[in-house]
Amino acid sequence: MRHSIDISLARFLMILSMVLLGILEYLWLHNEFKNKYRDMEDKINHVLFSNIRDVEDSLIFNRLAAGPFKVARDGEELSVNILVDKPDSMSADPGCAYKHKMVRADINLKARHPRGFFLERLAMDSMRRDTTGVELSTLVMRHIRMADSTGEFAGYSIITWDGGDTMLGGMVSKPQFDMLAGKQMALRHQNYQADIFHDLLPHLSFALFLWVMVGAAFYYIWKNLRRQIRLNALRDEFVSNITHELKTPITTVGVALESLHLSPDLQHTQSRRYLEICQSELRRLSLLVERILNNRAPQVQYAKMDVRQVLDEVMQSMKVQFDSRHARVQVEQEGDGFVINGDRSHMTGVLFNLLENALKYSQGDPVIHIRLRRDNGSVTLAVEDHGVGIEEDYHDKIFEKLFRVPNQNRHDVKGHGLGLSYVADVVRKHQGTIDVVSAPGKGSTFSLTFPALHEN
Ligand code: ADP
Repeated sequence: MRHSIDISLARFLMILSMVLLGILEYLWLHNEFKNKYRDMEDKINHVLFSNIRDVEDSLIFNRLAAGPFKVARDGEELSVNILVDKPDSMSADPGCAYKHKMVRADINLKARHPRGFFLERLAMDSMRRDTTGVELSTLVMRHIRMADSTGEFAGYSIITWDGGDTMLGGMVSKPQFDMLAGKQMALRHQNYQADIFHDLLPHLSFALFLWVMVGAAFYYIWKNLRRQIRLNALRDEFVSNITHELKTPITTVGVALESLHLSPDLQHTQSRRYLEICQSELRRLSLLVERILNNRAPQVQYAKMDVRQVLDEVMQSMKVQFDSRHARVQVEQEGDGFVINGDRSHMTGVLFNLLENALKYSQGDPVIHIRLRRDNGSVTLAVEDHGVGIEEDYHDKIFEKLFRVPNQNRHDVKGHGLGLSYVADVVRKHQGTIDVVSAPGKGSTFSLTFPALHEN
């Protein structure tokens, strides 16, 4: 159940990250698009404006022979002499000066650029008759095409309309006035998207590449995670099956030993002694199977129990082990009444573990002190040895599953790193605490504290 939540959460987070990355890339590309659009708009405005300028200039200066013109003031009147080098209907002789008179009111030089004014005059008086039907827009477009050697402006076209506003598709420049045709004109770039897309191609490729790479990495991680979870589930299933398989014969042997123990035929003291050893070792084997194969937190059944009593039983069961190692084990007790609300079999397992470790991690003949203390509201049990000790860095880690202090264990000390994690689990289940005081070469003291059961 937890595994499926883990994988769903991982998948959700990965998908969310991919969506967020996609949004981020979209915003970045959108911004780039807007910048390019603005640049292109500036360019199209500039192209139209500068080309109109060029065409107007060439129109004016092509038709002015000299001067280019003279302005004379005569009271309220302002006369402008323009020399036109082409014959037209207004001047009979070729090359003659064409004198055009204008009153000051006509020439609002401030409001209107003089270039426009002269172009208009020239067009009215001279050019229009020469080049009937010619529009400035046509000349501008031709000028743009001529100057376009690289095909940069191939998609540009010029559009004209009569006054007012008009609705046009594509990208359109700011409108300008066509003085010859008396119309509005603008430069249009119909397929501007294709040009911007072309410019943005490297950005698009990079964004796509990044998205695909991140997606592939996520997919790879997710696939591995799924495989890991599937393997874990398989292992859990295997463990629970094997636990069941192992427990059945242990229970059967236990019952058989119990019957033998009760049998009146078994008189020999030595045989009884061996039988007790068998029973004690079987109990240990049972706990070991439970601990090693049971992945779940220990299931506890609370009942009133005396820690001192459990300790005596464990000491009794371990007597053979103590003797074989020539261990000196001392039990001291302070106060009275070590009754707690706990699970007898798990508490037995806890004491087995602590005492076994005290033996395992002591060199020579082990000396072990067990102290039982009853305070106001708690029962404390401390197991002290004078063994190899544990570096401070590992004081927390030793309670993690499968952890063994590196380089500390002699090769003949067997273990799986499961004992203390089991002890910590059981203590936690009993609302107790576990402390370790230890230093390399000085030995270790493991203290367990449980809430005492108040007997009325
Ligand atoms: P193991 O099966 O390895 O003994 P435990 O969980 O019981 O696993 O202990 C974890 C580790 O803590 C051990 O491998 C050992 O390094 C260290 N340790 C436990 N008890 C003692 C002790 N009394 N003295 C020194 N080191 C100890």
